[in-house]
Amino acid sequence: MSALASPEAFKGAAPAAPVYNFSPGPAMLPRAVMAKARDEFLNWRGKGVSVLEISHRSRDFEELAAQSRHDLSRLLDVPDNYKILFLQGGATNMMSMAPLNLCKKGDGADYLVTGHWSARAAQEAAALAKVNIIADAGDFTAIPAAADWRLGKKPAYLYFCDNETIAGVEFDAPPSLPKTHRNTALVCDMTSSFLSRPVDVGRYGIIFAGAQKNFAPAGLTVALVREDLLRPPRRRRVPSLYNFSVLARHDSMFNTPPTFNWYMAALTFAWTREQGGVERMHENALARSRRLYGFIDGHDFYHNPVKPRHRSRMNVPFFLADGRLDETFLKEAESNGLVGLKGHRKLGGMRASMYNGMPAEGAAALADFMADFARRHG
Ligand SMILES: *Cc1c(COP(=O)(O)O)cnc(C)c1O
Repeated sequence: MSALASPEAFKGAAPAAPVYNFSPGPAMLPRAVMAKARDEFLNWRGKGVSVLEISHRSRDFEELAAQSRHDLSRLLDVPDNYKILFLQGGATNMMSMAPLNLCKKGDGADYLVTGHWSARAAQEAAALAKVNIIADAGDFTAIPAAADWRLGKKPAYLYFCDNETIAGVEFDAPPSLPKTHRNTALVCDMTSSFLSRPVDVGRYGIIFAGAQKNFAPAGLTVALVREDLLRPPRRRRVPSLYNFSVLARHDSMFNTPPTFNWYMAALTFAWTREQGGVERMHENALARSRRLYGFIDGHDFYHNPVKPRHRSRMNVPFFLADGRLDETFLKEAESNGLVGLKGHRKLGGMRASMYNGMPAEGAAALADFMADFARRHG
């Protein structure tokens, strides 16, 4: 086990603060990770300087980069024929990078639209590929059945979003494609569910995740790219910073990477291992979300419109039966140490985002507050 992933590494971290942060993103990071970053902020590895202030080509940073790749590949059992890339521009940038690298102009790409982020991805790709929307979930309360997907003849890839952060809709298994499409590469936006459960990486062509939901500050994106997808795109000139093969060849250091974000990612990966890995994160996510859905379903005062099988473990949107109480709910929640619950402006209502760093006590405190609120205002 790596030194960072040892149980000692996070000892002495501050106890959970009385405030629970349900922000959808940028979102809370594990308390112990934040405390460790604070403790070594001015004096990293005893060098007397901050990790922010050193070269990405220095031996210490190279070690950190190698360590982060090692921990991540252990966490997800990443097969040898995948490259781990650290990219800039947030998850949104990958919405252009995927079509830029995987198809030449005119090639078709299939998009499964199950919410805001997959719809956005299809829009972004439209300038770069012939986008074929194979199914559109409309009101985003369920994932359309595979039998109803209108797959393209020979798509360059099939794009989907594992967990739709706004509507709270999550796949319970990766899409399984018919024999005719067995070789179609799956490109998956896993931003809001990254490291929250075991994943069979070998079933995907590309998995990517923006850092700001589950593992580091906004701006960094991690991508697992199967090696056969790293070939330079045919008949399309792709700028170096968007080009998978260039980035892979330079170990994600074609230019200066966002070193602090990378450092934070390394800490979170190590913490996740120390906690027991993605199996443990999955148990935690199930426990937190079940507690809330169970409560919501048992009270007329609240509701969640998503089909139970496709409900997200990470983002739980909910609505008060009487929307006139929304402001009061948010104000009272905040004064009870429950912040970041306002729903997305498109949907209204509330949303409890509970990423890997959210302790079980946060979900319990929210459920208790909701019960109390319903009693007093119902
Ligand atoms: C937040 C989010 C994004 C966008 O991330 P940026 O860092 O703003 O680019 C994309 N996809 C999903 C699923 C998200 O939750």
